[in-house]
Amino acid sequence: MTRVLVVEDELALARALGITLRAKGYDVDLAGTGAAALDAAASRHPDLVVLDLGLPDLDGMDVLRAVRGWSRVPVVVLSARRDSSEKVAALDAGADDYVTKPFAMDELLARLRAAARRGEIEPVEPVVVTAGFTVDLPRRQVLRDGAMVRLTPTEWNLLAELARSVGAVVGRRELLQALRGQHLDRETHYLRVYVAQLRRKLETDPAAPRHLITEPGVGYRLVP
Ligand code: CA
Repeated sequence: MTRVLVVEDELALARALGITLRAKGYDVDLAGTGAAALDAAASRHPDLVVLDLGLPDLDGMDVLRAVRGWSRVPVVVLSARRDSSEKVAALDAGADDYVTKPFAMDELLARLRAAARRGEIEPVEPVVVTAGFTVDLPRRQVLRDGAMVRLTPTEWNLLAELARSVGAVVGRRELLQALRGQHLDRETHYLRVYVAQLRRKLETDPAAPRHLITEPGVGYRLVP
Protein backbone atom coordinates (compact mmCIF):
# COMPACT_ATOMS: atom_id res chain seq x y z
CA MET A 1 0.00 0.00 0.00
CA THR A 2 1.33 3.44 -0.91
CA ARG A 3 1.80 5.61 2.17
CA VAL A 4 1.14 9.32 1.67
CA LEU A 5 2.08 12.05 4.11
CA VAL A 6 -0.28 15.02 3.68
CA VAL A 7 1.11 18.23 5.16
CA GLU A 8 -1.70 20.76 5.27
CA ASP A 9 -2.82 23.11 8.04
CA GLU A 10 -6.27 23.93 6.62
CA LEU A 11 -8.37 21.38 8.46
CA ALA A 12 -11.17 21.13 5.91
CA LEU A 13 -8.76 20.56 3.04
CA ALA A 14 -6.63 18.12 5.06
CA ARG A 15 -9.75 16.09 5.90
CA ALA A 16 -10.95 16.11 2.31
CA LEU A 17 -7.52 14.95 1.11
CA GLY A 18 -7.45 12.24 3.76
CA ILE A 19 -10.90 10.92 2.83
CA THR A 20 -10.22 11.01 -0.92
CA LEU A 21 -6.80 9.39 -0.71
CA ARG A 22 -7.96 6.65 1.66
CA ALA A 23 -10.89 5.93 -0.67
CA LYS A 24 -8.33 5.48 -3.46
CA GLY A 25 -6.43 2.92 -1.39
CA TYR A 26 -3.65 5.07 0.02
CA ASP A 27 -2.42 4.78 3.59
CA VAL A 28 -2.60 8.43 4.77
CA ASP A 29 -0.76 10.31 7.53
CA LEU A 30 -1.80 13.91 8.20
CA ALA A 31 0.47 16.65 9.58
CA GLY A 32 -0.76 20.17 10.29
CA THR A 33 2.59 21.83 11.04
CA GLY A 34 6.10 21.78 9.59
CA ALA A 35 7.48 20.23 12.77
CA ALA A 36 4.91 17.43 12.68
CA ALA A 37 5.69 16.94 8.99
CA LEU A 38 9.41 16.47 9.64
CA ASP A 39 8.67 14.02 12.46
CA ALA A 40 6.30 12.02 10.28
CA ALA A 41 8.62 12.08 7.26
CA ALA A 42 11.41 10.62 9.38
CA SER A 43 9.40 8.10 11.41
CA ARG A 44 6.73 6.92 8.93
CA HIS A 45 8.86 6.59 5.76
CA PRO A 46 6.13 7.82 3.38
CA ASP A 47 6.20 6.81 -0.28
CA LEU A 48 4.79 10.20 -1.29
CA VAL A 49 4.50 13.62 0.33
CA VAL A 50 1.86 16.28 -0.40
CA LEU A 51 3.27 19.50 1.04
CA ASP A 52 1.40 22.77 1.53
CA LEU A 53 3.85 25.70 1.47
CA GLY A 54 1.88 27.95 3.82
CA LEU A 55 2.27 26.37 7.26
CA PRO A 56 1.79 27.99 10.68
CA ASP A 57 5.26 27.26 12.11
CA LEU A 58 7.80 26.67 9.33
CA ASP A 59 7.91 27.77 5.71
CA GLY A 60 6.99 24.77 3.57
CA MET A 61 10.13 25.44 1.51
CA ASP A 62 12.24 24.86 4.62
CA VAL A 63 10.39 21.60 5.25
CA LEU A 64 11.10 20.59 1.64
CA ARG A 65 14.82 21.42 1.93
CA ALA A 66 15.10 19.56 5.23
CA VAL A 67 13.41 16.43 3.82
CA ARG A 68 15.62 16.59 0.73
CA GLY A 69 18.64 16.55 3.02
CA TRP A 70 18.08 12.85 3.63
CA SER A 71 15.24 11.59 1.48
CA ARG A 72 14.33 11.35 -2.18
CA VAL A 73 10.66 10.64 -1.49
CA PRO A 74 8.52 12.22 -4.25
CA VAL A 75 7.09 15.54 -3.03
CA VAL A 76 4.12 17.28 -4.64
CA VAL A 77 3.89 20.88 -3.43
CA LEU A 78 0.55 22.65 -2.89
CA SER A 79 0.47 26.40 -2.86
CA ALA A 80 -2.03 29.23 -3.01
CA ARG A 81 0.68 31.50 -4.39
CA ARG A 82 0.65 31.68 -8.15
CA ASP A 83 3.88 33.41 -9.09
CA SER A 84 6.25 31.36 -11.18
CA SER A 85 9.35 32.35 -9.17
CA GLU A 86 8.01 30.39 -6.22
CA LYS A 87 7.25 27.43 -8.44
CA VAL A 88 10.80 27.50 -9.80
CA ALA A 89 12.22 27.78 -6.27
CA ALA A 90 10.17 24.78 -5.12
CA LEU A 91 11.24 22.64 -8.09
CA ASP A 92 14.87 23.73 -7.61
CA ALA A 93 14.65 22.74 -3.95
CA GLY A 94 13.67 19.23 -4.98
CA ALA A 95 9.88 19.23 -5.38
CA ASP A 96 8.73 16.72 -8.00
CA ASP A 97 5.59 18.64 -8.94
CA TYR A 98 3.67 21.75 -8.02
CA VAL A 99 -0.10 22.20 -7.81
CA THR A 100 -1.72 25.60 -7.39
CA LYS A 101 -4.73 25.96 -5.10
CA PRO A 102 -7.59 25.68 -5.74
CA PHE A 103 -7.14 22.43 -7.62
CA ALA A 104 -9.36 19.61 -8.86
CA MET A 105 -8.92 16.46 -6.76
CA ASP A 106 -8.65 14.36 -9.94
CA GLU A 107 -5.71 16.44 -11.11
CA LEU A 108 -3.91 16.07 -7.79
CA LEU A 109 -4.49 12.30 -7.85
CA ALA A 110 -3.07 12.06 -11.38
CA ARG A 111 0.00 14.03 -10.36
CA LEU A 112 0.49 11.83 -7.30
CA ARG A 113 0.34 8.70 -9.45
CA ALA A 114 2.92 10.18 -11.81
CA ALA A 115 5.20 11.20 -8.93
CA ALA A 116 4.90 7.71 -7.40
CA ARG A 117 5.88 6.11 -10.73
CA ARG A 118 8.95 8.34 -11.00
CA GLY A 119 9.85 7.39 -7.43
CA GLU A 120 9.70 3.68 -8.24
CA ILE A 121 11.91 3.71 -11.31
CA GLU A 122 14.74 5.35 -9.43
CA PRO A 123 17.79 3.11 -9.79
CA VAL A 124 19.15 1.32 -6.75
CA GLU A 125 22.18 3.18 -5.49
CA PRO A 126 25.37 1.58 -4.25
CA VAL A 127 27.16 1.50 -0.93
CA VAL A 128 30.62 2.99 -1.51
CA VAL A 129 33.35 1.70 0.80
CA THR A 130 36.66 3.55 1.07
CA ALA A 131 39.61 2.70 3.30
CA GLY A 132 38.53 5.49 5.68
CA PHE A 133 34.74 5.60 5.63
CA THR A 134 31.60 4.15 4.03
CA VAL A 135 29.01 6.11 2.06
CA ASP A 136 25.68 4.26 2.18
CA LEU A 137 23.73 5.99 -0.61
CA PRO A 138 20.42 4.10 -0.20
CA ARG A 139 20.33 4.79 3.56
CA ARG A 140 21.86 8.26 3.17
CA GLN A 141 24.39 7.49 5.89
CA VAL A 142 28.12 7.90 6.30
CA LEU A 143 29.95 5.59 8.68
CA ARG A 144 33.47 6.09 10.00
CA ASP A 145 34.99 3.56 12.38
CA GLY A 146 31.53 2.06 12.77
CA ALA A 147 29.98 5.34 13.94
CA MET A 148 27.55 7.50 12.01
CA VAL A 149 29.03 10.80 10.84
CA ARG A 150 26.62 13.73 10.99
CA LEU A 151 26.63 15.72 7.77
CA THR A 152 24.66 18.80 6.82
CA PRO A 153 22.32 18.39 3.81
CA THR A 154 24.80 20.29 1.64
CA GLU A 155 27.75 18.17 2.76
CA TRP A 156 25.71 15.02 2.12
CA ASN A 157 24.63 16.11 -1.38
CA LEU A 158 28.21 16.92 -2.30
CA LEU A 159 29.60 13.65 -0.94
CA ALA A 160 26.78 11.61 -2.53
CA GLU A 161 27.50 13.16 -5.93
CA LEU A 162 31.18 12.22 -5.61
CA ALA A 163 30.29 8.73 -4.37
CA ARG A 164 27.97 8.09 -7.35
CA SER A 165 31.04 8.55 -9.58
CA VAL A 166 33.57 7.03 -7.21
CA GLY A 167 37.08 7.03 -8.67
CA ALA A 168 36.21 9.52 -11.40
CA VAL A 169 36.66 13.28 -11.50
CA VAL A 170 33.41 15.17 -11.00
CA GLY A 171 33.46 18.66 -12.47
CA ARG A 172 32.74 21.73 -10.41
CA ARG A 173 29.70 22.51 -12.56
CA GLU A 174 28.15 19.09 -11.89
CA LEU A 175 28.85 19.40 -8.19
CA LEU A 176 27.26 22.83 -8.06
CA GLN A 177 24.24 21.45 -9.88
CA ALA A 178 23.92 18.77 -7.23
CA LEU A 179 23.77 21.59 -4.66
CA ARG A 180 21.21 23.63 -6.57
CA GLY A 181 18.60 23.22 -3.87
CA GLN A 182 20.91 25.21 -1.62
CA HIS A 183 21.05 28.11 -4.12
CA LEU A 184 24.76 27.85 -4.69
CA ASP A 185 24.73 28.05 -8.50
CA ARG A 186 27.82 29.78 -9.84
CA GLU A 187 29.38 30.13 -6.40
CA THR A 188 32.44 27.96 -6.90
CA HIS A 189 34.21 29.10 -3.75
CA TYR A 190 31.52 27.43 -1.64
CA LEU A 191 32.66 24.09 -3.03
CA ARG A 192 36.06 24.59 -1.44
CA VAL A 193 34.41 25.43 1.86
CA TYR A 194 32.16 22.35 1.82
CA VAL A 195 34.93 20.02 0.69
CA ALA A 196 37.08 21.35 3.53
CA GLN A 197 34.24 20.62 5.98
CA LEU A 198 33.88 17.09 4.62
CA ARG A 199 37.63 16.52 4.94
CA ARG A 200 37.54 17.59 8.58
CA LYS A 201 34.80 15.07 9.25
CA LEU A 202 36.09 12.18 7.12
CA GLU A 203 39.84 12.38 6.53
CA THR A 204 42.42 11.19 9.06
CA ASP A 205 44.61 14.15 8.08
CA PRO A 206 42.37 16.82 6.53
CA ALA A 207 45.44 18.78 5.38
CA ALA A 208 46.69 15.77 3.37
CA PRO A 209 43.46 14.18 2.12
CA ARG A 210 43.58 10.63 0.77
CA HIS A 211 39.95 10.27 -0.30
CA LEU A 212 38.49 13.68 -1.13
CA ILE A 213 40.95 14.82 -3.76
CA THR A 214 41.07 18.19 -5.53
CA GLU A 215 41.63 18.06 -9.28
CA PRO A 216 42.98 21.56 -9.86
CA GLY A 217 40.96 23.60 -12.32
CA VAL A 218 38.49 20.74 -12.90
CA GLY A 219 36.69 19.49 -9.82
CA TYR A 220 36.96 16.78 -7.20
CA ARG A 221 37.33 13.02 -6.99
CA LEU A 222 36.40 10.46 -4.34
CA VAL A 223 39.22 7.91 -4.13
CA PRO A 224 38.38 4.66 -2.33
CA1 CA B 1 -1.77 26.56 4.44
